[in-house]
Parts: sequence; C-alpha cells; structure tokens
Amino acid sequence: ARRHVALKESIRSIPDYPKPGIIFRDITTLLSDPRSFRRAVDALVHPYAGGGIQQVAGIEARGFILGGAIAHQLSCGFVPIRKKGKLPHHKVSMAYALEYGTDEIEIHVDAVKPGDRVLLVDDLIATGGTATAAINLLRKIGAEIVAACFVIDLPDIGGAQRLRDLGVEVRTLME
Ligand code: 5GP
Repeated sequence: ARRHVALKESIRSIPDYPKPGIIFRDITTLLSDPRSFRRAVDALVHPYAGGGIQQVAGIEARGFILGGAIAHQLSCGFVPIRKKGKLPHHKVSMAYALEYGTDEIEIHVDAVKPGDRVLLVDDLIATGGTATAAINLLRKIGAEIVAACFVIDLPDIGGAQRLRDLGVEVRTLME
C-alpha cells in the first residue's frame, strides 16, 4: 500500500458528504488524472494478468468505470451489478442493510456461465455490505469468485475481513 502514495494523493476527501461527520473519498480526481487512472487500473489488473479470469463484475456506478478498464486490459468480459430496477432481462436480486434501511442490487441470471472465474470490482469497501450482496448474487448464478478488488479499503470498518470470512480473496491499493 505504501507504494501507492501518488495514487493516494490523487483522491480528494470531502468532509461532511453525504452528511455531517462523514468524510467522502472522491475518486473523480483519480479518474481524471491520466497517470493515476492508469496506475490504479494496472495495479488492480497485475495479479490476474494471464490468470484465466473470464468475467469482471463491476458494482454500479464507480465499479463500472474501473471494471470496464480492467476487463479490457484482461481481455475478458464485463458484467454489471446494478441498483434495483435498471436491468432489462431476467435477474436475481439481493437486499442488503444500509445504516438506515435497505438497498437492493441485481444481476442478470445469465450474466456468467456456471463455473466462470469472476473478478469483482468496486472503488471502495467500507462495511462490505454492498460487496457481500454482490458475492451472494454471483455465487447464486454459478460464478467462481477469484477475488474482489477495490482502490480504497476503510480497514477500521472491517468490510475486507468480512469478505475474507466468506472465503473471498481481497485486494486493495490503499487504506
Ligand atoms: P459498503 O457497502 O462497503 O459499506 O460501502 C461501499 C459502497 O459504498 C461502494 O459501492 C462505494 O462506492 C460506496 N461508498 C461508500 N463510502 C464511499 C466513499 O467515501 N467514497 C466512495 N467513492 N464511495 C463510497
């Protein structure tokens, strides 16, 4: 993680967003900086280059940006995991807890072939609630999850450990 100092500096921290007391880690400044965007994608791809990933699954919306670039570089497919109500074809859904209330994400039932080796991608892991729901969806449709990767880990909140407890390898570029 110490190797990615420049990358870390490309991320902007917004105090009191989306509500008082929360510091939002804004990756739009990483994405708009050409060297940082390439570095982040290269670092996330590196462990899996030539490693037989068939599909990259990205979580809406920032997981689409990173996941699309990663899939292109790995020469594999891209599969969207979307917020409820956005996907047109037959799908499976999974609700997950937020601080207040619940949210729901969905995937097309035929998004992967049973046994496909899948890399899950999002920008940040906090509680791991979103990623856990995504893992459950992917496993429901028969995916073999090779790893879940994120640019940012908030380790005090424990999401990465939660995923490891589900038997998923987790890779992050910084805390
Ligand atoms: P979790 O489900 O792990 O608690 O929250 C992670 C999800 O919320 C991810 O989809 C991530 O994009 C989003 N998220 C939560 N906090 C932040 C933040 O500070 N910055 C960014 N970029 N995304 C966040």
